[in-house]
Amino acid sequence: MRSLGDRTVDLLVIGGGIIGAGIARDAALRGLSVALVEQDDFASGTTSRPTRLIHGGLRYLELFDFGLVRSDMREREILLRIAPHLVFPLPFLLPLYRPSLWYQAKLRIGMQLYDALSLDKSLPRRRWLDRDETLVAEPSLDPDGLIGAWRFYDAQVPLVERLVIENVVDAAAHGALVLNHARATTYVREGDRVAGALVHDRIAKADIAVRARLTVNATGPWLDRTIAPLRTASKPLLRLTKGIHIITPRTTQQAHVLFAKRDGRLFFVLPWLDATLVGTTDTDYQGDPADAAATEDDVRYLQEEARRAFPNAPFDKILFTYAGVRALVREEGVSEGEVSRKHALFDHERRDGIAGALSVVGGKITAYRDIAEEVTDLAFQKLGSAAGPRTHGSTTATTPLPGADGSREREIMALAKADPALASPLCAHHRSVAAEIVHAVRSEWALTIGDALLRRTDLGLGPCQGLDSVGVVAERMAALLGWDAERRRVEIDSYRREVEPMRRFSSE
Ligand SMILES: Cc1cc2nc3c(=O)[nH]c(=O)nc-3n(C[C@H](O)[C@H](O)[C@H](O)COP(=O)(O)OP(=O)(O)OC[C@H]3O[C@@H](n4cnc5c(N)ncnc54)[C@H](O)[C@@H]3O)c2cc1C
Repeated sequence: MRSLGDRTVDLLVIGGGIIGAGIARDAALRGLSVALVEQDDFASGTTSRPTRLIHGGLRYLELFDFGLVRSDMREREILLRIAPHLVFPLPFLLPLYRPSLWYQAKLRIGMQLYDALSLDKSLPRRRWLDRDETLVAEPSLDPDGLIGAWRFYDAQVPLVERLVIENVVDAAAHGALVLNHARATTYVREGDRVAGALVHDRIAKADIAVRARLTVNATGPWLDRTIAPLRTASKPLLRLTKGIHIITPRTTQQAHVLFAKRDGRLFFVLPWLDATLVGTTDTDYQGDPADAAATEDDVRYLQEEARRAFPNAPFDKILFTYAGVRALVREEGVSEGEVSRKHALFDHERRDGIAGALSVVGGKITAYRDIAEEVTDLAFQKLGSAAGPRTHGSTTATTPLPGADGSREREIMALAKADPALASPLCAHHRSVAAEIVHAVRSEWALTIGDALLRRTDLGLGPCQGLDSVGVVAERMAALLGWDAERRRVEIDSYRREVEPMRRFSSE
């Protein structure tokens, strides 16, 4: 499975976050030959650190970004249809406290616009709840000064990691060659042309030349680093900002949109898995995106603001935190929160005189499918006759993701039926069973404990983050991947190191 051979592919995608995985799937479904390489694990970058909403974003209305909101709403509907097992409707409350008349009118218009921009939606429309109705829906809200709340619907993707994996699975099912733990180190150059990349496979400890007619950088916040060898201008394309989330035991019944007292920023308190997710922050970031972690200030800010909204809810107890780095199209002279979330495509032939390379700058998870379609359309244009007589129209808006028909559950149940030992839970406080690990290794490229616990199953997203069962998991993986006792120890240590930044503020 871990060989790309000597052949030349149509498209090499560098970066296995949601954008790269989406491009690989779209291009493979349209008949292009595709290779996808990811330096760490699929979804290990920014994609596994978001607020996990599939939304137009009320906030963007304030920025008058109606086009972005409209297209994100359209994508929300598409994702609810093609991934009904991963993307779910989520009702929100937006409570109002002693609002000025002007503020009330502004919010009412915002709510009307949010509905109007998604007229064709399947989700219920907004509704105003009076004070009593609001407190029945969420008894822990601060009642002081509360006049009521807007209820409106958006969508949540609790396990966005699986959205990525299923895109990769489908890409591979349509012939894509996919490699995780494989870093593109340098471009293969033919004069002023990029002809692929040299890739270092960390697992096989080997370098592979992946030759490609077109190379797409989908490296998210690492983009300026990965395209530095192609650029003539030294100005970065990205503005990086960090956002963190804290995860606490379940504290509220509903999802809430709130405004921070300290600086007026919008933030969320959301039900997530069996816990509550609070986020996010937005602060300029320099440095390697892989090193982003929550600081004491970040955590205190979210705890204080959440406590203000729910004075008696236990936001003191933190299970874990996570931090991600947004890759935003660079704009000068605006604050972090005002930078547009719209993506851009960068053609290195037009801008740097280097043919054979494209880059994706920015882009939300919500928009990933649309961005992938746009990139693949452009890839067909660039490849011209080299693309041959292949399908040119994208089908991803109507083709369900592989797990939408329940096939993953069926495969896991079949494994457990064949070997009843695989039906037993791995951890006393989590429902995941051993068959899920076997499936992750055999069918979904899980090569490390982190791959299996954090990005194939949700065992690593529970309160103990799988640390209570890491020995059992390592044993299972060792049997499948041929690890000896020493390698097992190294892999367990490496998992502990991977979750350590997330556990710095854990209460236990
Ligand atoms: C705090 C926060 C909250 C957010 N909330 C939301 C939300 O609620 N809804 C929403 O729609 N969006 C949200 N976003 C935005 C969204 O998470 C990102 O826009 C999206 O995940 C970006 O995906 P990506 O594939 O471009 O980047 P990434 O997921 O970072 O993927 C890029 C990948 O490239 C790999 N890579 C880098 N260099 C190399 C190399 N040389 N070789 C091989 N691979 C390489 C990296 O390892 C990485 O996995 C949020 C972002 C943040 C930070």
